[in-house]
Amino acid sequence: MVKAVVGANWGDEGKGKITDMLAGQADIIVRFQGGSNAGHTIVNDYGKFALHTLPSGVFYGHTVNVIGNGVALNVPILMKEIDSIVSRGVPAPKILISDRAQMVMSYHILLDQYEEERLGKNSFGSTKSGIAPFYSDKYAKIGFQVSELFDETSLRNKVERVCVQKNVMMEHLYHKPVLEPEKILQELMGYKEMLTPYICDVSAYLWDAVQEGREILLEGQLGSLKDPDHGIYPMVTSSSTLAAFGAIGAGIPPYEIKKIIVVCKAYSSAVGAGAFVSELFGSEADELRRRGGDGGEYGATTGRPRRVGWFDCVASKYGCRIQGATDVAFTVLDVLGYLDEIPVCVAYDIDGEITTDFPVTSKLDRAKPVIEKLPGWKCDIRGIREYEKLPENCRRYIEFVEKKIGFPITMVSNGPGRNDIIYR
Ligand code: GDP
Repeated sequence: MVKAVVGANWGDEGKGKITDMLAGQADIIVRFQGGSNAGHTIVNDYGKFALHTLPSGVFYGHTVNVIGNGVALNVPILMKEIDSIVSRGVPAPKILISDRAQMVMSYHILLDQYEEERLGKNSFGSTKSGIAPFYSDKYAKIGFQVSELFDETSLRNKVERVCVQKNVMMEHLYHKPVLEPEKILQELMGYKEMLTPYICDVSAYLWDAVQEGREILLEGQLGSLKDPDHGIYPMVTSSSTLAAFGAIGAGIPPYEIKKIIVVCKAYSSAVGAGAFVSELFGSEADELRRRGGDGGEYGATTGRPRRVGWFDCVASKYGCRIQGATDVAFTVLDVLGYLDEIPVCVAYDIDGEITTDFPVTSKLDRAKPVIEKLPGWKCDIRGIREYEKLPENCRRYIEFVEKKIGFPITMVSNGPGRNDIIYR
């Protein structure tokens, strides 16, 4: 069976933890979109890890970990990440990389940096990992696919063509040093050497695995609201964050995705710019940020403080719907145990009109949160394993949210560890 684990919100919902947990029963874990721009934090028997490119199944000896064609593959970062987990005692993971994946080039990273610099106060808050220039080039058909590394003559020609185009920008828009085709070719040859042991016809491999009835997990990055089509465009990422895209980014039939586990965080957090209706500021924000996640809400890739806010029923209902949730995993609930009362954003007020439908960006910018307060439970719920043992007000919060979002919360996560989970 194929299951997708994806985010309902702005990312950082705890997908890594849920994937790591579900990977115990899975055979294959597939990354199908995004690149090294976001991180998953995983806490398990080997310690605490921040993964950026590797699938979250790499900590089990029995799993095969796949980088699908939809991923923005940063080869040096991937290699560094493999070394970093192996050097901490994790057995060398089995990794397959799609021959149709494309590679993030050093100039994508430079262009990302230069463009953010040029935009100044209008910047996107990019992680400067080259993701937007990478996907732009992919769809402009001037990206480099892994399979292209094996025909040096056409590779050389393409590198020259690409450099002509890029150098116009380097010279005239950014006033930076131009690219040298020979160096770019060397970069690609270096990637070829590093990738060769892992290259695979991934869609054929996954087709066979599906026929054999193997358990496959598709692991998404970021969340619904960062999707380029359905998110808060233009403050989005550059590849689809939706479960539906799992079929494309892994190369499997869409009808094989039987379960869509949408990870939804018990309060809100976001990195980067863009509308955030239930955002908190000042000391209330500082306290939630300090207590949030596992050791505070700071980006796993950048270390940047995350923006935080109360749970947003409007955004989460939409986030679950656009993913096509069959199950909701409600995470980081333990963090809210300090509050006497828990404010929840239940609707938006847009120019005096109250709505629970998530609007397009131009309207979202004018939305104000309609807040309802629920009683807190004022205790630590970590370690509880049965739903009925949760404090009554805590169950009330879960059931309130479930009703507002309209999708079943089948898992509640009450700690960062693999076993901190309550099944309903
Ligand atoms: P991802 O990108 O969706 O995997 O999310 P991140 O890893 O960026 O952020 C989630 C953070 O919350 C990480 O530090 C996790 O270890 C932590 N986390 C996940 N689930 C829980 C939970 O139920 N409770 C607490 N306290 N922390 C959690």
